[in-house]
Amino acid sequence: MEDGKTEMREYKFLFDNDSQAAAKFFPEKRVITLAQAKVSTAASDAEIVARARELGAIIVTANGEDYEKEIKRFLQKSQRNDCYDLFGLVVIPNPAAIQERMLPGLGAKLRINEKAISWDDVWRENYLVRVHSDSTVDVRELGRCFYCKKLASE
Ligand SMILES: [Zn+2]
Repeated sequence: MEDGKTEMREYKFLFDNDSQAAAKFFPEKRVITLAQAKVSTAASDAEIVARARELGAIIVTANGEDYEKEIKRFLQKSQRNDCYDLFGLVVIPNPAAIQERMLPGLGAKLRINEKAISWDDVWRENYLVRVHSDSTVDVRELGRCFYCKKLASE
């Protein structure tokens, strides 16, 4: 089984159903819509998380709480000798007016522990980027899969 990160891949963004309109604020060549990903608009969060892993994509959604839960479940789920790491999550505010104000240039506002980071870091480290409607952005770790955590603790 390939691990995804050993391939010569670059980060992409997969847009959840509720966030397709926000795709225009992200670099066009990095955008994957659900249609391009061949995912049904009726797909569950779990299906979208699994597809994002296959595609090596950062998920963009306005439904942060459910996705955080689903990602935790996914990282825990596969308790065997395979890496099931994911590639990051971006939670955006829903109203279009706030998206218009907040999303352009979002990549330049990413900080973790006061250090500037890039989308590439978000993708490699499986970070959660949360864009708040009050114009603040915070970033934290979502963590590695069960297998990688086990390796690291041995
Ligand atoms: Zn892993």
